[in-house]
Amino acid sequence: MHKLLSSLLISATGLALAPSPADPPLRGFFPRSVQAERDLETRFKAMPDPARMRAAMQRLSARPHHVGSPYDKDNAEWILDQFKSYGWDAHIENFDVLFPTPVERVVELVSPTTFKASLQETALPLDPTSNQQSEQLPPYNAYSIDGDVTGPLVFVNYGVPADYEELEQRGISVKGAIVIAKYGGSWRGIKPKVAAEHGAIGCLIYSDPRDDGYTGGDVFPKGPMRPAQGVQRGSVADMPVYPGDPLTPGVGATKNAKRLTIAQAPTITKIPVLPISYGDAQPLLEALGGPIAPASWRGGLPITYRLGAGPAKVHLRVKSDWSLKTLYDVIAKLPGSTEADQWIIRGNHHDAWVNGAQDPISGLAPELEEARALGALYKQGWRPKRTIIYAAWDGEEPGLLGSTEWVEAHADELKAHAVAYLNSDTNSRGYLGIEGSHSLEKFINGVAMDVEDPESGVSSWKRLQAVRILNGSPEARKEARDREDLRIGALGSGSDYSSFIDHLGVASLNLGYGGEDQGGIYHSIYDDFYWFTHFSDSAFVYERALAQVAGIAVLRLANADLLPFAFTNLAETIQTYVKDLQSLRDRRAEQIAERNRQIDEGLYKFISDPRDPVTAPQRQQPAPQLNFAPLLNALDSLNHAASRYDKAYNRAVSEGRSTVAKTVNERLLQAEHALTSVEGLRNRPWYVHMIYAPGFYTGYGVKTIPGVREAIEQGEWQIADREITRAAAAVEREATLISSLASTLGGA
Ligand SMILES: [Zn+2]
Repeated sequence: MHKLLSSLLISATGLALAPSPADPPLRGFFPRSVQAERDLETRFKAMPDPARMRAAMQRLSARPHHVGSPYDKDNAEWILDQFKSYGWDAHIENFDVLFPTPVERVVELVSPTTFKASLQETALPLDPTSNQQSEQLPPYNAYSIDGDVTGPLVFVNYGVPADYEELEQRGISVKGAIVIAKYGGSWRGIKPKVAAEHGAIGCLIYSDPRDDGYTGGDVFPKGPMRPAQGVQRGSVADMPVYPGDPLTPGVGATKNAKRLTIAQAPTITKIPVLPISYGDAQPLLEALGGPIAPASWRGGLPITYRLGAGPAKVHLRVKSDWSLKTLYDVIAKLPGSTEADQWIIRGNHHDAWVNGAQDPISGLAPELEEARALGALYKQGWRPKRTIIYAAWDGEEPGLLGSTEWVEAHADELKAHAVAYLNSDTNSRGYLGIEGSHSLEKFINGVAMDVEDPESGVSSWKRLQAVRILNGSPEARKEARDREDLRIGALGSGSDYSSFIDHLGVASLNLGYGGEDQGGIYHSIYDDFYWFTHFSDSAFVYERALAQVAGIAVLRLANADLLPFAFTNLAETIQTYVKDLQSLRDRRAEQIAERNRQIDEGLYKFISDPRDPVTAPQRQQPAPQLNFAPLLNALDSLNHAASRYDKAYNRAVSEGRSTVAKTVNERLLQAEHALTSVEGLRNRPWYVHMIYAPGFYTGYGVKTIPGVREAIEQGEWQIADREITRAAAAVEREATLISSLASTLGGA
């Protein structure tokens, strides 16, 4: 329906040299180039081989391969050999980064009873790699500061700011206490950050069975869910301030780089943190007294969830080895022919917390198959117009270290040459997940239409549309039916695209299938080959589909006559963000007014139960009106420029105007960059994109138009007005650039 409609429209307006309806136009290709590209893609699509991806996963996940381990280096060298054998020009690039590994870990209940947490994951006879203890990093949170603290325990739900408001109303303070938070609800690094802001002296994070344990299915090895001893490792560095090596913000962590001292590094936590299993958490939670936790806070353990503080008193001790470790980024190139100075970059990390079959090898194995297929086409005589760079990053797990240091080390070249960055991380069965720059939304929709879903036989695009219609809200259903392109998500953080889009303003996409496989093995010793081949994409056909999607996206970007960016989708998306900000302001204003009224009326006093008292929250400053006019005006300019560009683009493509395309391609590289500001976000200048950023208090979760949104959320109204002006300036810059490109394209 969709494809037919767009070809009909084009022939009806007489713009194109009517491609046949069965063969819709390829975005970015002149009519005379379409057939050759289609033929090339058909050859490419036949190459990724499930058996080879299975073998690669088995090899790469055979032993623990975290940063600094022998098998991490071994894997990097093996990956390097693969790229070379595929005909790529490849090398390893090293960086030296701060990566703490645990030396001492203690969690014990010291009163009213005693209990010592095991802090160990148990080997399982069925699972052949779970017994490699001598090489495994034990469960810990990297970049927790060293500490030895004892204090009363408080249960803080997910440990996000709203949870502390709730505690405060119940008269419970975490000052001088150790908090215990559930995993989930935010990125894990937010939990110790918010706990420390409220005066806590230590933080425990556990995986509640309601979130990824037995509540959702059988536990491993009988099923895919988290067993009682399973622990989620992970970084707790304050990545919303900056990711990468904590000692070298903004510059590559090369041998002679200028480094902060550990004491100066702002992203290391302020209080000690350890992750624990629900097996270890249960005796601690059971020992809590105080009020019963609100219904939405309770998990799946067979206990009464209480808030504390105390009488449970906990001793927490954490000490790490803070030496620098070496990263091994594998970087491989296929040189471009006519536009070699324009780079298409594709990456996935190779390091894991332990064996990491799903995270990251399920994304890396397809990437290697793409590289093999592209290498084979190259050997058969195909030459990409643009240079293709494939990266296998090290050190993603501790804090996007390998990609961030590489991007910082090569920032000037990348700003001048990078067209786009395509990322993947994990992959499983289900629906194609796409997040990224909205200037690439139309392009990636076109790719998804041309890759078959392995289970249903329809295209990955059609299957994604079907699930949105069936399971979406009424608005999502209508949009999935009526909008020409399926909407893609905005990028927050949590994988290696972050430095490309957030720090440099390089257009980026993150790709991966998912939604059908349940799992509770994330960042544990049970994320391994046995788990993946029993409970995920055991036929490796979604592995093949990911290689096809990402590989075809690379091929199209590398070969396009006129780069396939489209700005009407970008303009429409920013418009939805602005509307959303306006209604967010109105909602906040209403909430504040209502709450102040409730306080004035003394309602909290009237309803407080003397046996479980609740106090009134703090009065808040009423929300003033904000002046959105600068953003709305900038949006008008962008809308106008985008549709002018669209018309000029269609004409230039249908007429096959290669000279003008060459000029415009060079300047299109700057289109995402125009949305950045040199000063960066307030309080975190490493992040320069004015439209997308990870949230300061959500971590991975995206905040769109972050300067304005976070100011509204935090009630900083004067700042919100200033941030509207800054965001508007970025949108105006984008409009000016696109308008000028439209003139160039449309000129005689
Ligand atoms: Zn990962």
